[in-house]
Amino acid sequence: MAVIAVDGLVKRYGAVTAVDGLDLTVDAGETLALLGPNGAGKTTTVECLEGYRRPDAGTVRVLGLDPVADARALAPRIGVMLQEGGLYPHVRPAEMLHTVAAFHTDPEDPDALLAALGLDEVRDTRFRALSGGQQQRLALALALVGRPDVLFLDEPTAGLDPVARRTTWELLGERTRGGTTILLTTHLLDEAAAVADRVAIVDRGRLRMLGTPAELTAGGDGQVVVRTDPALDADRLAADLGVAVAPDGPPGSGRLRIASLATPELLTALAAHLRAEGAMLEELHGSGRTLEEVYLRLVDDPASRRADDPAVGA
Ligand code: ATP
Repeated sequence: MAVIAVDGLVKRYGAVTAVDGLDLTVDAGETLALLGPNGAGKTTTVECLEGYRRPDAGTVRVLGLDPVADARALAPRIGVMLQEGGLYPHVRPAEMLHTVAAFHTDPEDPDALLAALGLDEVRDTRFRALSGGQQQRLALALALVGRPDVLFLDEPTAGLDPVARRTTWELLGERTRGGTTILLTTHLLDEAAAVADRVAIVDRGRLRMLGTPAELTAGGDGQVVVRTDPALDADRLAADLGVAVAPDGPPGSGRLRIASLATPELLTALAAHLRAEGAMLEELHGSGRTLEEVYLRLVDDPASRRADDPAVGA
């Protein structure tokens, strides 16, 4: 059974349809990243899952429960980290975390959590005096302390320095290995590609793509750039490889751009051609599509935004 199940979700605010028939499932222990432009409907979707908003149509289930009707049963089993900490300015990290821990039957040790998140030194500092990154880490500690089965994280590492970001994902990785399910919204595509098991791209309230980062970036039109003997004939190489080859740099640089992914077949054919021509290979760079390229192509391209365009992928 899916831990998170979104089925035909529709949510409107007056004339604005924020979520427009979204289907999505997240399995136990899975980290799913929800990506999409500002206003795509990510927060609204997560708010429906948190029981904060009631769907206009469709259903949402978390751990098999209805987030609105079963709010009491669900609350202790979910952890929510909002972008804005929203805590009282005078509250102090240690007292806040101990207080929240006391609401749970089997909480994590609040002091160990403060230490793990590098908040030891500011444990008795008022919330208002914490840096943005410290407030962010406290919000994460509050989401984690009750040992939730499901975590909703809204841009959890926005504003964190690189070390804090790595610590955060190490901590979260430990939780997912223990079975915790994470639904993450983010605008950091590199991070999504690195930490998420699957990525969902939403736009205008609809699912546009869903799959593992590898699935979403597979195929497409990669390129291989080589530097070799400047005398090598690009047209003959193109004919041999069966793909386009164009100069990539000033004449005489010996740099050529080959329109292909760096597949073993391409590299074998390239090596054979160079051997036949007696040319040395000085450099070789291969690149496929990045998640950013996939995202930008999908979200930027007006042709891909037709209302009847079906969601692609798994
Ligand atoms: P962001 O990346 O900027 O956080 P998002 O994908 O989370 O965006 P939502 O916040 O879900 O997007 O907003 C989706 C749409 O619904 C937007 O057009 C937004 O203006 C609208 N909207 C969101 N909340 C409300 C509200 N309370 N009242 C009216 N309209 C709203």
